Amino acid sequence: MKTRQPIKHGTSNAYKCGCRCTRCTKANRDACRSYRRKKGIKDIAETGNPCKINSKVYQSQTQAAVAAGVSQSTISWHLNKHGNLDRLGGKRGNPNNSRRKPVQIGEREWPSRSALERYLGVSSGRVHRWIKKGQMDLLLAALLRADGKRGTGETS
Ligand SMILES: [Zn+2]
Repeated sequence: MKTRQPIKHGTSNAYKCGCRCTRCTKANRDACRSYRRKKGIKDIAETGNPCKINSKVYQSQTQAAVAAGVSQSTISWHLNKHGNLDRLGGKRGNPNNSRRKPVQIGEREWPSRSALERYLGVSSGRVHRWIKKGQMDLLLAALLRADGKRGTGETS
């Protein structure tokens, strides 16, 4: 008898030995599935992986989708594309981070967006919306008003 045993195709054993033919792949998948079922673990396709949005962990893609207000296909798209949901909230980074970033207008800078909002005396999120919509004129107008109130307006 030779040392190399013939592989019996269509078994998960053959798959573990490195065979990736359709029959062995399927056998392995079935074996994993029944193993999970035996252990009381539901199939991944049924529950989805635990998902993380920012720092919150959701037990399934469905829960994450509901929490984020998006469809489940959006969740799985992000997971497939990025391996995480970090980009789900906004186009660049998430709004929580950008709130803590310094905001620069002209030569002046505020430590954060909320600091600028306090300076302008506008409600929270207003600056974000102005920037998002590209309404810099409204932002500058608010800045001029705030400067005027404080008497620090720069004269040209
Ligand atoms: Zn095989």
